[in-house]
Amino acid sequence: MDFLLTDQQMMLKKITREFAEEYIAPVAEESDENQELDPTVMEKMKEMNYFGTCISEEYGGAGLHDDTLSFCIITEEIGRIDTSWSITTGVHCSVCAYPIYKFGTEEQKQQFLIDLAKGNKIGAFCLTEANAGSDAAGVQLSAVKDGDEWILNGSKIFATNGGIAKTLLVVAKTGEKETRKELTIFIVDTETPGYSVGVKEDKLGARASNTSELVFQDVRVPQENILGKIGDGFKLTMQILDFGRISIAAQCVGLGQAALEASVKYANERVQFGRPIGRFQGIQWMISNMACAVESARLLTYKAAYLCDKGMDYGLTSAMAKLVASEAAMQAAHDACQIHGGYGLMKAYPVERYFRDAKMTEIYEGTSEIQRLVIAHQLLRKGFK
Ligand SMILES: Cc1cc2nc3c(=O)[nH]c(=O)nc-3n(C[C@H](O)[C@H](O)[C@H](O)COP(=O)(O)OP(=O)(O)OC[C@H]3O[C@@H](n4cnc5c(N)ncnc54)[C@H](O)[C@@H]3O)c2cc1C
Repeated sequence: MDFLLTDQQMMLKKITREFAEEYIAPVAEESDENQELDPTVMEKMKEMNYFGTCISEEYGGAGLHDDTLSFCIITEEIGRIDTSWSITTGVHCSVCAYPIYKFGTEEQKQQFLIDLAKGNKIGAFCLTEANAGSDAAGVQLSAVKDGDEWILNGSKIFATNGGIAKTLLVVAKTGEKETRKELTIFIVDTETPGYSVGVKEDKLGARASNTSELVFQDVRVPQENILGKIGDGFKLTMQILDFGRISIAAQCVGLGQAALEASVKYANERVQFGRPIGRFQGIQWMISNMACAVESARLLTYKAAYLCDKGMDYGLTSAMAKLVASEAAMQAAHDACQIHGGYGLMKAYPVERYFRDAKMTEIYEGTSEIQRLVIAHQLLRKGFK
């Protein structure tokens, strides 16, 4: 067992940290306020190939398709500075571009993947509907066959990147009987007539990340845009989410790390009762708990990435990583605000933003309750290996 990063991974960490500190940090607060991603950062992100992290070089990617740990390092370092950006790139890479790379045909890769990998087009994964949240099998958006095309009708909600995406993976119902066996994933070009973006959500946290409602009215999608096979949608969705959860866990590790670093800095600087508050045990315990939780989350996240790259079953570990990392980030952000006292609620310090950002990580791509169900289900049904 080797706990050390390779020289290449260490370099990647350093470069990404410097990039995030130089380009993302100065505009993070403003982007949060405006609820928009900064266009200059977007261009820089493309130059760095962060939209093609999990894609091989032949399709315009960074060539880290078999190095999920490196994907985690990049996501963590971006997340350490701004959750909105780590969500944007994380979702684009993990639940849109990578599934096309992994399950798509050569034609689909040529048509969609290259632009996604280069960041020319942003991707989104569209599962959730008004009546299909935790229960993915409740999808009602319908796809009806008409010759060589499928006609999509319905709407999706809460789609990350929804309002800025040009390529969507849309989970649709292609039959009327047993939903789990009648879901299919379609690759949809947002230029297709009948498609429109609905409400853009005004969120508590990760405010610069776009979260939107998407509307499909007689959207015609060619048969060749089906990802995998007809009826494979539920199975593929579960596999896509397994990988996506590694990405979210890495986002949370970055966010937790940021909360920890801000707390240590403040505890050393803030003087009360004639000494830095970091000298009080009550503060020290919070910092220790934060550090242990973030490091545990990091190890679990890296383990899930390692199992994935070894071609082993990683669904259980990625659910554990997502659960532990999101709860670590939430607790770390909470304690960071506590350590900052009144300033923990003020815009003058970033911990206020961390606290708001952390909450969504316990919700999206499966709530903490659903992660616990996934973990328990695997242990009760499959036992221990
Ligand atoms: C910011 C943000 C971004 C998102 N991005 C995307 C995206 O890109 N694509 C996408 O498709 N979706 C996205 N989502 C949707 C997200 O995945 C869902 O919100 C989430 O899965 C929960 O579904 P729900 O909101 O309908 O809650 P519900 O399913 O209604 O759950 C409500 C509560 O009930 C609990 N609950 C439900 N079922 C059970 C059960 N069986 N046992 C115990 N407790 C249960 C839940 O844990 C939760 O506490 C996003 C959501 C947010 C907030």
